[in-house]
Amino acid sequence: MQISRLPIESHETVLRVQDTEIGLAGFIAVHSTKLGPAAGGLRMRPYASEDAALTDALRLSEGMTYKNAAAGLPLGGGKAVIMGDSRKKTTAQLLAFANAISTLEGSYWTAEDMGMTPQDMELLARETKFVAGLPSGPHASGDPSPITARGIFQSIKVTAQHRFGSPNLTGRTIAVQGLGHVGTYLCALLHEAGATLILADIDPKRVADIAHKYHAEIADPDSILSAKADIFAPCAIGAVLNAQTIPDLQVSAVCGGANNQLATTKDADRLHARGILYAPDFVANAGGIINVATEVLRIDDRDTYVSDKLAAVETTLGRIFDRAKTMECSPARVAVSIVDEMLADRAA
Ligand code: NAD
Repeated sequence: MQISRLPIESHETVLRVQDTEIGLAGFIAVHSTKLGPAAGGLRMRPYASEDAALTDALRLSEGMTYKNAAAGLPLGGGKAVIMGDSRKKTTAQLLAFANAISTLEGSYWTAEDMGMTPQDMELLARETKFVAGLPSGPHASGDPSPITARGIFQSIKVTAQHRFGSPNLTGRTIAVQGLGHVGTYLCALLHEAGATLILADIDPKRVADIAHKYHAEIADPDSILSAKADIFAPCAIGAVLNAQTIPDLQVSAVCGGANNQLATTKDADRLHARGILYAPDFVANAGGIINVATEVLRIDDRDTYVSDKLAAVETTLGRIFDRAKTMECSPARVAVSIVDEMLADRAA
């Protein structure tokens, strides 16, 4: 196996990992360890080119720095990618990649991401201890989705407080896009809180089942973005908030779980210009990484830790909204600047 360091100025360490004999090629990107060991998942998917894979690793690892810092976790940002079809991954590839992770001596902790399963994490753990997302064990954190949904639910209440003057969701209409792991748990919490739901998913059976359970309206996947509601909660895919969709939105606020909801940072300004309050995704959806953190940090009293950190997310989001109001700018820009200040303080 060949492991080479790539000199990339924006990142602390970037490794290119290759073993041609077993068909392994990928990258490990450590963006920052200023706040603690870098943590972020391992993704496996086909990439159009090696450049595309590297760009993804660099972008995602930087995103993890912001997400972990905003959640108040003593963790930095990192991410790893393996190029290839995850359905064809082999044990040899995972074990070799685990060895590459070990060479970073704990400055990067991996976990499950796209194309990986808890069983794959178990395999990695044979060769490296710097792995979370295990299916079992003393600190195994399990499925993060319920905690992610809890964090989004609490963030939606903070958003409602700032947009409508009350966190009460009774009678509020919320449009949820994507009814997978996160969206399904979120719908249960919103329904319980008295919200009226408008739901969309590309899987017609899934949306029909959940709509039936919660007496919700169904929108087709294209029209959910222009559904008339109080809050839009994107819980499916990235880049749904863009120059094409933002003019059609008929909501007063956006707060959901999907990663990278904004196609570009300019889209944060577009939302702001339309008077739509945007809860930055990496703040609202931090529940997942908070859950993983309990495993990385070997937290014994998991429930208390998770509740405290989710409460801190609420406080942080409230502070972001307050500052954005004072500065008359998008909360997304404020969220980034708050993390930049945290990192600069640590460097000082
Ligand atoms: P998932 O794959 O379980 O669910 C995604 C759902 O979205 C599926 O039901 C899918 O059919 C649906 N979908 C896909 N494209 C759609 C479209 N165009 N319109 C409507 N529905 C569509 O994924 P998940 O774990 O629920 O995660 C959802 C989002 O939240 C992702 O962006 C993920 O990166 C992010 N996220 C998840 C977690 C977590 O704990 N799972 C944590 C943080 C962020």
